[in-house]
Amino acid sequence: MRACVVGAGGLGGPMAIALADGGVEVTVLDGDVVELSNLHRQVHFTMADLGAPKATALAGRIGARARGLVERFTADRADALAGDADLLVDGSDDPATKFLVADWARARGRPYAIAAALRYGGNVFTGAGDAACYRCLFEEPPDDAPTCGDAGVLGPLVGWIGGVAAERALRLAAGDATVAGRIWVLDDLRRGGPRELAITRRPGCRCGS
Ligand SMILES: [Zn+2]
Repeated sequence: MRACVVGAGGLGGPMAIALADGGVEVTVLDGDVVELSNLHRQVHFTMADLGAPKATALAGRIGARARGLVERFTADRADALAGDADLLVDGSDDPATKFLVADWARARGRPYAIAAALRYGGNVFTGAGDAACYRCLFEEPPDDAPTCGDAGVLGPLVGWIGGVAAERALRLAAGDATVAGRIWVLDDLRRGGPRELAITRRPGCRCGS
């Protein structure tokens, strides 16, 4: 089994490591390099990785079961980058990329997990088969979504959400369809704990046409 992991940061790192430890071959995609400001939340990198591409640094950390490609997941390159993947997971910091990963995976019948973290909260959406898709819930990418770089994210929170995302990714890799069409949500850890919601198919969503 092979998984395509989009993003090698605070969310993609835990997912890639967990999948590889679980016996899954992993392709890690990321176009960025490791910066000092990343280290507090991307704990799989160290000072020795500064300036190195995140994708190859993470793959090197994982070892033989991982390969790192210094590329973004784009519509033009999706087939070439993920065509051999049985599973897609996204830990990118870009809503447009998340929709692209979810749409591509849904269209090709691959299970997928999409993880996001910002400020004091985040979420992990899991899709597979005919279950509700990412667009059934979120419809369209927001026009002006803040990024972690702009709005910040609590460092340790990324470890929590990345851990949840890793657990979901492992369940998808094991063929567990019970997590499909569900979202784990932490609105704001200062105000309460996480909740999990089952999403129903949205009439009119492109997944139904
Ligand atoms: Zn849908």
